[in-house]
Amino acid sequence: MNDCLFCKIIAGEIPSTKIYEDDSVFVFADIEPTAPVHWLAVPKTHIAKLSDVNESNSAVISHIYEVISKLAAEHEEFADGFRVVSNCGKTAGQSVFHIHFHILAGREFAWPAG
Ligand code: 5GP
Ligand code: ZN
Repeated sequence: MNDCLFCKIIAGEIPSTKIYEDDSVFVFADIEPTAPVHWLAVPKTHIAKLSDVNESNSAVISHIYEVISKLAAEHEEFADGFRVVSNCGKTAGQSVFHIHFHILAGREFAWPAG
């Protein structure tokens, strides 16, 4: 999508610190990390938010979880646990409308979420 920040990052038009990439998924470091590991996993196809996932586009979402599991196995910060979050819509605090999964590791995380 022309005006989407994360589509521009995926295309390399805006620089990012790439963690992982394959044909359908891109993972990069969050620009304002809130944990020792704070990455964002996104599908290369533009899906605005979690409530837009349906049976025609959900294959990439399950693939994102496979990628997260693989990355977790490869990085020691994930050994004791980690958190994956997708904020959907205004009240959840979504600020970039290209679906993304925050991957957080390297410290303890409170629950319930704030
Ligand atoms: P949301 O608030 O939508 O759940 O998460 C958006 C995330 O994108 C935030 O954690 C924010 O720090 C991150 N972010 C916003 N702009 C940029 C950017 O230009 N580059 C990177 N790497 N992350 C960004
Ligand atoms: Zn996009």
